[in-house]
Amino acid sequence: RIIAISQMQPTDARKSFPCFDEPAFKATFKIFLWHKDPNYALSNMPFVITEERYGGWKRTEFEPTLRMSTYLLAFVVSEFGYEQSFTSGTPPTRIYARPEQVLNHNVEYAKNITPVILDYYESYFGVDYPLPKSDQIAVPDFALGGMENWGLVMYRETALLFDAAINSAYSKQRVARVIAHELSHQWFGDLITPLWWDELWLNEGFATFIEYIGTDYVEPGFRMMDQFVLYDLHDALTVDALTTSRPIIAENVTTPDDINALFDDISYSKGGCFIRMISEFAGEEAFKLGLKVCHLISSYYTINTACSYGSIDCIEHAQTLFHTWMADPSNNTISPNLRDAVYCQAVANGGSDEWDFIWGRYQTEGDSHEKSALQSALACTKQLWIIQRYLEYTLDSTLVRNQDAYSVYVGLCGNDYARDLTWDFLRREWDYIYEVYGSGFFRINSIIEGCTSRFSTEFELKELETFKESRSDQLGTGARSVDQALELTKTNIQWRTDYEDTVFSWLN
Ligand SMILES: [Zn+2]
Repeated sequence: RIIAISQMQPTDARKSFPCFDEPAFKATFKIFLWHKDPNYALSNMPFVITEERYGGWKRTEFEPTLRMSTYLLAFVVSEFGYEQSFTSGTPPTRIYARPEQVLNHNVEYAKNITPVILDYYESYFGVDYPLPKSDQIAVPDFALGGMENWGLVMYRETALLFDAAINSAYSKQRVARVIAHELSHQWFGDLITPLWWDELWLNEGFATFIEYIGTDYVEPGFRMMDQFVLYDLHDALTVDALTTSRPIIAENVTTPDDINALFDDISYSKGGCFIRMISEFAGEEAFKLGLKVCHLISSYYTINTACSYGSIDCIEHAQTLFHTWMADPSNNTISPNLRDAVYCQAVANGGSDEWDFIWGRYQTEGDSHEKSALQSALACTKQLWIIQRYLEYTLDSTLVRNQDAYSVYVGLCGNDYARDLTWDFLRREWDYIYEVYGSGFFRINSIIEGCTSRFSTEFELKELETFKESRSDQLGTGARSVDQALELTKTNIQWRTDYEDTVFSWLN
């Protein structure tokens, strides 16, 4: 009998297929696995279809993954058996193992506690389990205790299987702890992921602490919280007392050897102590709220990035949220953490209805944070006539306050569709701009920097030089900014001359 399994963390996905094999490069993956009877295939996501191919081969296709890091991908080909459980809230959970282990009911314990822990984490973190299924598999020869592959967690047999007739109470506790640890990674580590390995302690410290919380919930009789000091605090102090200890945030992490060296007691135990300390002084409720905010901030960056790369799902999601608000303006249910992104995407992908709605809110909004979010969104439009009209509005301080107009220009100059129009407008209306901002401390610098920082052509350089000559007595505190803009534009032109063709042909 054979089994094939993968282990990607930290740097081995690149041995499986060509990829940007670093945690920050999240992507969606479409996986196909070939196998022969009696073996079948598992991966992170549910399978779509298994088709007969030539020579007795079968090909299993899986649903595309969510955006994820390469190190969390997983494949299994085996003839293992499984037990399955459903609960009200969470998706189906399965425990896979060698057929004889399943027959002997050694997967029962894991099968029983997994949905309870998942349900508990959903309420504890305030975020639903992110995937449509949760598989865990006991592998007869596995180097680690457990590996948190997203949706397909792998364990050595002693960390997942439990035989009540012959295994000790300690073995049972170990199974519960490792499961609670790996399942917590399905949120912290898998859904939100440190950008680079130097912050591995965030992943592992968090999972180390939460494994006590999760186990304590499902097995209060174990008195897990009393054991933290014994297992992790003492371990951390022992290692940290050595002169060869290291900072918790690692330095100079570049090679696979550097990365592998980080899976140590500092990341796990000291990291766990650190997270536990935060939870103690913040209090449990504040700690849980903090976790929720982490997820919201992370989803904010995800939504903004996804939308700006043109993800249709993302744009439609933002538009749905926005139009619900437009239909019932007195009732804005958009999460404060998502408003900047949702407003901007709704305006960018909408027309005058969306823009006018935001403009109306902007005129009457009393809260300065909300007002600033609305103002930023107005600069996201791609309609040239709306951009032109918005620029004209800035000349009337009853429509746009002087204190706000400069950030309208900076916002519009950050928009590829509006930059040229705005630069033309500023030069044309420079008498007004100078009168309002010329003697101000830094506003005029922001305007010049914001609108010229992407200049990279001879034409734009000429325009800047002409501008400097013709307005030499009207630059005020912005004189130095104009000189810097000239220098930067020349540098940008040189960069394009040197590298643009090479980069362009590489991208093609
Ligand atoms: Zn871990």
